[in-house]
Amino acid sequence: MSEMKHNWTKEEILEIYNKPLMELLYEAATIHRVNHDPNTVQVSTLLSIKTGGCSEDCGYCPQAARYHTNVKGNDLMTVNQVKAQALRAKSSGSSRVCMGAAWRNVKDGEEFDQVLEMVRTINKLDMEVCCTLGMITENQAQRLAEAGLYAYNHNLDSSEEYYKEVISTRGYQDRLDTIDNVRKTNVTVCSGGIIGMGENIEDRAGMLVALSTLNPQPESTPINALVAVEGTPLEDQKPVSIWDMIRMVATTRIVLPETQVRLSAGRTQMSREGQAMCFFAGANSIFAGDKLLTTPNPDVNEDMKMFELLGLNPQKPFTKKVQPQSVEAADSKFEALGEKPKWTRPDHKIERNEAAKVKSKTLK
Ligand code: SF4
Repeated sequence: MSEMKHNWTKEEILEIYNKPLMELLYEAATIHRVNHDPNTVQVSTLLSIKTGGCSEDCGYCPQAARYHTNVKGNDLMTVNQVKAQALRAKSSGSSRVCMGAAWRNVKDGEEFDQVLEMVRTINKLDMEVCCTLGMITENQAQRLAEAGLYAYNHNLDSSEEYYKEVISTRGYQDRLDTIDNVRKTNVTVCSGGIIGMGENIEDRAGMLVALSTLNPQPESTPINALVAVEGTPLEDQKPVSIWDMIRMVATTRIVLPETQVRLSAGRTQMSREGQAMCFFAGANSIFAGDKLLTTPNPDVNEDMKMFELLGLNPQKPFTKKVQPQSVEAADSKFEALGEKPKWTRPDHKIERNEAAKVKSKTLK
């Protein structure tokens, strides 16, 4: 039942997604128990180490410079600031820190060196370190691995077809190429997506085809519910129903049996009962802290009360894979190559992204 399968088709996944709910939940929970401890959920902390001013046009993102939103931009944090936040996260039960920078892609230089130092610092606190920095080359992935990075996040967001309706500044293949670069190292892959962006169920299944046919499958998959932010092209999207979220989590659990499935953005819109059903369906991680990069998230104390109520235990770090050793910058065997890869700039335009850009100019 939990056998790893890498040739899922969209039709098979749709059949799972559309099963009667009780049957779907039973199947997902059974697979979950075979592969994971059902009473353990990882608490991760997402830190925005560089906020706003991004050159991309992701239709859901308030950090894109071209949209007028309430997000206040920040330069790259210092290593000490990050260390202080990581210590705080650790003391409140987090075993993983995910650092996000609003960049199209990583550029070799001082800022990337600073991020590498952040990775070393958090790894030495015995926490799993994850980064989400945009597109990276193989050399940059090697340097992150050498610094002690545990995971790299790079979401596929949706199906390849619907991706073109949300983002026009890079292509799906660019995403897959970065995932491939990460796979050439010991760093684990974190990749998932967002539901509620106006996609249909076929697109949700299409994204799961793309993720499940990766070999190996991602070690971690965040499932986000869109948080529609004023000023972004997707500002008018209605919140996704909890039943869609439960179905998506359960289907993800079935097609990615060994993956850590992360209940990510959108938890403020979910009741405890809804979240409990997601845990039953196979979600085994949440993000803690009052902000998820820039959007609201439940308070950590509320989460701990929910854990107590449901009898859940926070997962210890490095339960799935041993802790990487950090190599100091002076001992690195990788040089910065200063590569300038030609990432795609597709030439299609997305009407609602263009409209949001025009509206933003009138408001700035
Ligand atoms: S999602 Fe990332 S790449 Fe896209 S606009 Fe936001 S910060 Fe930039």
